[in-house]
This record gives sequence, C-alpha cells and structure tokens, in this order.
Amino acid sequence: METIFAPWRGEYINGIGNHAKNPDNPQECVFCSAIKATDDFERYIIYRGINAFVILNLYPYNNGHMLIIPYNHVSDLSQLNTETHHEMMDLIVKAQKVLQDVYHPHGMNIGANIGTAAGAGIDQHLHFHILPRWTADVNFMTTIGQTRVIPEKLDETWKKIRASWQKID
Ligand SMILES: [Zn+2]
Repeated sequence: METIFAPWRGEYINGIGNHAKNPDNPQECVFCSAIKATDDFERYIIYRGINAFVILNLYPYNNGHMLIIPYNHVSDLSQLNTETHHEMMDLIVKAQKVLQDVYHPHGMNIGANIGTAAGAGIDQHLHFHILPRWTADVNFMTTIGQTRVIPEKLDETWKKIRASWQKID
C-alpha cells in the first residue's frame, strides 16, 4: 500500500508554513539519533522521560501516530528492566489520553512489532506504536486505490500533541 501526503489540506485549514527537516546521519539508528538531538520540534519528539521517550512516527498510518521508545538500543522487551517496562506503559496510557484529547478517535491501535518477521521497520530498536483509528478511516482511497491520504503535516501534529501532552496529567 502506498501513502500520499496531502499537507496542503492541513495548510489550507491551519495556515502553517513549512519547517526544515532533520539531516540524519544515515549510519546511525534513527531513534538513537533522535535521542541525542537537542531540538525536539526538529525531530518531532513529544516527551523525554527517564528511561523512554515519545516521538511522532515520520511515516504515520494516521494523524497523531506516535512511537514510545526506550533509550536503550535493544530489540525486545526482555532486555529492559522493570522500571523501563512500567514507564513505557505509563507513557502509552498518557499517549492514549492525549490522542483522545486532540483527535477524538473512535478507537486506537497500540502494539509493538518484535523482529522483521513480525513487521518491524526498525527491528534493532524496540518501539511501541500508538495511533488513532476511525470507523471510516479505511476510506475511498484505501479501498479503491491501495493508497492512504495523510492530510495533516507533522509540524502541525507535533504542535497539537505537544500542547496536549503538557496540559494533560
Ligand atoms: Zn537505537
């Protein structure tokens, strides 16, 4: 399935301009690279915790698609300590509240793909996905054309989610 970004829709609605993207070191794990970055907006980091952080997925399935990621570059849950497990679950709960606040979805998908056989795009560094779902989000384009349309730019998504994250307990 292909994804088409339609940022002009978001621009039309919100009047927000473009923002320069990060120049990634292609040799480094993208998540480890994001951890070291100093500009949260540039890397779309929503929140930095003690053992884990929250970031927007650069290739969202839907608007608001977030990743919850441990700082440790490990490939599965058994390599993390209990404190990190608990913090990641707390962050997932917080992310659920924030998505509800910002997007009012009908449902959500929460989960992790462990290993490429399970569908992990980046299998070396564990990450949980959380994304909002709507009853009608398998839309015309998906059904007919095997194509999804993401109407909101990541810049705009980051601003909305970051604001909600700081507001909600
Ligand atoms: Zn990493």
